[in-house]
Amino acid sequence: MNAENSSRRVFLSRLGLGALSIGAIAAVQACGKGGGEAPKCDDLTGVDDAAKATRTSLKYVDKSADPAKTCGKCQQYNAPEGGAACGGCKLFKGPVSADGNCAGFVLKA
Ligand code: SF4
Repeated sequence: MNAENSSRRVFLSRLGLGALSIGAIAAVQACGKGGGEAPKCDDLTGVDDAAKATRTSLKYVDKSADPAKTCGKCQQYNAPEGGAACGGCKLFKGPVSADGNCAGFVLKA
């Protein structure tokens, strides 16, 4: 094996490792998008002031501090429809996260 073949082999080897590294980083980033993050349900476009006030007074948050008390486990929750990320709440208009919470929480029977 001459020096040129050796350096070509090293170059191709490094190129392969680089491609694998890029693929691994992309896979980790893709996993991070779906796992653990509560959807942001804060677009209140078209929501009236009364509903906004109720949302605020009940201290709604997109991510509950207590995993046992999330909107998804609440009687007032309306699940998302049509592939939407956010559902709704029977107490006020506007988008609500299944991972959210507010003072109106009532555990589903
Ligand atoms: S009442 Fe509160 S905890 Fe229950 S679904 Fe509505 S926003 Fe979520």
